Amino acid sequence: MYRYLLLFIMAIPGVIAAQAPPTPAGSTDFSKVTAYSEIAPFLANAQKTSAFLKTTIIGQSVNKRNIYAATFSSGDFGKDSTKVKVLIFAQQHGNEQSGKEAALLLISELTRPENHYLLSRLDIAIIPQVNPDGSEVNQRRNANQADLNRNHLILTEPETKALHAFFDQYLFDVALDVHEYSPYSEDWLNAGFRKNTQVALGAPTNLNVSEKIRNFAADKTLPYVMNQLSLNNYSSFVYCPGDPPGKGYIRHSTFDINDGRQSFAIQQTLSFIQEGMNGTDNFVQNLKQRSLSQMTGMRSLLEFSYNNNIEIRKIVSDERKAMLKEPGSSHISIQATHAGNGRQLQLPVLSVKTGRDSTVMITDYRPIVKSVADVKKPVAYLIPDDLTEVVEWAERQNLIKKPYKPAATDKIERAFVQRIDSIDFEGDIIVNPGLEPKIFTPEEISKTYIEIPVNQLKGLMAAIALEPKSMLGLVTYDKYRHLLRDLTWFPILKLYR
Ligand SMILES: [Zn+2]
Repeated sequence: MYRYLLLFIMAIPGVIAAQAPPTPAGSTDFSKVTAYSEIAPFLANAQKTSAFLKTTIIGQSVNKRNIYAATFSSGDFGKDSTKVKVLIFAQQHGNEQSGKEAALLLISELTRPENHYLLSRLDIAIIPQVNPDGSEVNQRRNANQADLNRNHLILTEPETKALHAFFDQYLFDVALDVHEYSPYSEDWLNAGFRKNTQVALGAPTNLNVSEKIRNFAADKTLPYVMNQLSLNNYSSFVYCPGDPPGKGYIRHSTFDINDGRQSFAIQQTLSFIQEGMNGTDNFVQNLKQRSLSQMTGMRSLLEFSYNNNIEIRKIVSDERKAMLKEPGSSHISIQATHAGNGRQLQLPVLSVKTGRDSTVMITDYRPIVKSVADVKKPVAYLIPDDLTEVVEWAERQNLIKKPYKPAATDKIERAFVQRIDSIDFEGDIIVNPGLEPKIFTPEEISKTYIEIPVNQLKGLMAAIALEPKSMLGLVTYDKYRHLLRDLTWFPILKLYR
């Protein structure tokens, strides 16, 4: 009798599947958002349903709330090199609630036995809420009033530090940063339209991310995920911020590396941003549909990673190995611009007047990122060991570093700041120094230095951060602006051999 009962249960996985735990918002049919206090009980409950799920606390917010990660693995998480490691993280912006709800839905889905096939090729980590303090008061920023998605380079906030420490621990192959966009801007409404795409997706755009990864992400991954969304009746489009015709141009997002997507992409990760739609009240309007569409995008990326397991591991591993080679003659792009490709863009929109789907022709469409200033890649950057704030930055970034030991053949480049001009970067005016570089021998350099080799996984990130003329560098942040001073030597040096 007992034996038959067991067989009965095993034969009908649906019986077990029906037990997938409802998410806190899901159990109210999305009439409210999930509160911070409901996340831990939900995860504990989900963990009872699936032996493959573990919950970890990766860090704490400014106000000491826990940041949770749910990890799914059929073995020892992150240890099996035949598996693609996928990281999905949501709600860096506290007022973008559907990312969190979708992440919780996905966790619930992954406890279902019929989805466990994914774990034969994937290890999956899901962080539903990077910014719990912001979420509780439905505000974009964290409790220090910092925009976490502009903090991945300077890494001053506990939330972004926790996220990067978690990434560094496992070196994920695939990453997805989940957000919401607001389609209700005045400029667009005045033009008579608003964007109406349920899910917008962006691939890496920084030119220093390997071309193979950029192309694979844009040409293989995005079309797959967008097609899956369409099969599930959700509209999707490539992430295209910008202004309506006559007011500005449309581009494929920023190439800055201070956001979630690009900060991992610069470490040669197949890294994406997904943006669902805000409600008009930011909150519960259409929350169910917004969460389900976001969850479908996440889920489709998992399927893509499952289907392309071997190719993804090879591309990521090859491109990361290439980072560890000596610099050779390659160059680093430190300034770039958005350029057109001669084509116009037919952008799907909603007509405010008719309330119907429509399209608008974008003539000023700039999908290409073009480098306008490059530097020859040095062997290392040298930070004066008494330049505490930059040494501490290197520590926060978990960079490989060592005391600089001069060799007779070393050529050391110092940059003299002749003047400080400005330059437009995606609508912001930032510093643009005029520099006069000069080569010195080690004997001519009096201070002691910390050496940051460029041949490390975060070497390109470090180079982009430490170059004085970098559009994305530390000197473009208020905190580090003083490192650039008229008619002085820039304190950080470059080592060539
Ligand atoms: Zn956001």
